[in-house]
Amino acid sequence: MANNEENRGLKSLFDWFANRRKSGSTNPGPQEREIADGLWHKCPKCGVLTYTKDLRANQMVCMDCGHHNRVDSDERIRQLIDANTWQPMDEHLRPTDPLGFRDRKAYCDRIRDYQEKTGLIDGVKTGLGQIGGLPIALGVMDFRFMGGSMGSVVGEKLTRLIEEATQRRYPVVIICTSGGARMQEGMLSLMQMAKISAALDRHREARLLYIPVLTNPTTGGVTASFAMLGDLIIAEPKATIGFAGRRVIEQTLREKLPEDFQTAEDLLKHGFVDDIVPRTQLKQTLTQLINLHQPPAISTNHNMAFLKKTMTLSSTAAE
Ligand SMILES: [Zn+2]
Repeated sequence: MANNEENRGLKSLFDWFANRRKSGSTNPGPQEREIADGLWHKCPKCGVLTYTKDLRANQMVCMDCGHHNRVDSDERIRQLIDANTWQPMDEHLRPTDPLGFRDRKAYCDRIRDYQEKTGLIDGVKTGLGQIGGLPIALGVMDFRFMGGSMGSVVGEKLTRLIEEATQRRYPVVIICTSGGARMQEGMLSLMQMAKISAALDRHREARLLYIPVLTNPTTGGVTASFAMLGDLIIAEPKATIGFAGRRVIEQTLREKLPEDFQTAEDLLKHGFVDDIVPRTQLKQTLTQLINLHQPPAISTNHNMAFLKKTMTLSSTAAE
């Protein structure tokens, strides 16, 4: 009996290796081409060459097929925030290596390399600014820094952003893009999911608006926490959104998954996403939504006076 079990175990392990070999490369599909500093950009989707300046003017969305090329956090902030209104927050927060983690490379060296390569300190930029003249607290994740993975700095910066927004009664928008929790920080990275969610709950209790924008790709611990906790959840067209990767699920279930599995469109169909908004309309849409959610223009003192009057009236009526 035990022998049989063992054989079965060995067989499934053998199948796993065989399937892995059959499926060829273990890399997650062709990587999106980086935008060359050159004059022209070749669309990784349709192959059409576009003048880079025109593409930038169209917010890095292919004018031919509508493919949304990846944009970094600085570009995002430029696209969304009104000129000269951006005030960055907590730029001094730096990642540490509390576990002394090492895989093929020491984690502290990895951090330093990414900092040099990207000019970023960690995977998110946060700050306050205006969008269409309305105040907003904005967090923008950056996929260039370790695949936008969520470590202690990402968690702490987003939590502080949400707390500041709650205090100032600002709406929060977070542009999500992430490969998930940062495994080099182990448990400390997983804790961030709960920490951000708790801050969002206090923001919600204060009846304030939170909109996550899911861009390609939004996966792992980010999907399992703040990406799915929005009052309204917006996604960019064709963005990959999921928890575990397609390959892992296919291998576990031993089933071929549908073509549109884990795409923004599929999630919209199943009610996990409220709307898909092309990047070129994102600023306008966010402005409209935030505007709609503005509290009526009555001062708090006026509200309190009205409340007291109503309470006095109802207590008089009760007597
Ligand atoms: Zn294209």
